[in-house]
Amino acid sequence: MVTLMNKLQKIGRFCFDIVYPNRCPCCNEFLVWNEYLCDKCRKKVLIDISELCRKCGKHKKECICASLLKYDEAVAIAYYEDEARNGLLVMKDSRNKNFGIFAGERLGQYVKQNSSWQSCDGIVPVPMDRRSKFLRGYNQAEVIASEMSFVTGIPVMNNCLIKTHGYRVQHTLNAEDRKKNTESFLPMGLDLEGMRIILCDDILTTGNTLSRCAEILKMCGAKTVYAAVAATVRRKREE
Ligand SMILES: [Zn+2]
Ligand SMILES: [Zn+2]
Repeated sequence: MVTLMNKLQKIGRFCFDIVYPNRCPCCNEFLVWNEYLCDKCRKKVLIDISELCRKCGKHKKECICASLLKYDEAVAIAYYEDEARNGLLVMKDSRNKNFGIFAGERLGQYVKQNSSWQSCDGIVPVPMDRRSKFLRGYNQAEVIASEMSFVTGIPVMNNCLIKTHGYRVQHTLNAEDRKKNTESFLPMGLDLEGMRIILCDDILTTGNTLSRCAEILKMCGAKTVYAAVAATVRRKREE
């Protein structure tokens, strides 16, 4: 079913391209219909994954493992800067989903090369709240997850987590609590006993969102939660 949907999407993409030409989401160059990024941007975006801490997914020099994250391992294909940042911002502001599909494909290839990841039971995209999803028209984490699923054959599970707006009165909270209050995730009641899950999101910054979601998935019984993200934020650059 997933495969059929994906094939239909690709046919749709071909037809769509006749009317709206395909462009690189990072530099806005024209592309042929079946490419997601131009050659130049693809080379600039992809990082050496061995630079990342295998557990937290941040650059090794900025490891955040000490903050007791609830996910077990993490990976990203890009740093959230320059072309990759453009690609993800374009995905939020317009309907050009190329960067998400490109990232999902690359993450899927990573999963296939790692037997502990490939043996996972489901891919869970970090949810958006209903209002934001309605306004944008789609959840970018779902775009990445569905392409990962196409590459790996691991099903997407959209029935594990929901995101709601915080319910406490905002003005009684300080700035940090306000931020937390607007990001509240809840389980949807599915039993995940013994399951191995790949959690999927677009950007890894502090790890808080992924950690909170992983914690809920584990409360629902998940044994292992890996995190796959398109881009990881690094503060300092090595020139
Ligand atoms: Zn480009
Ligand atoms: Zn780490």
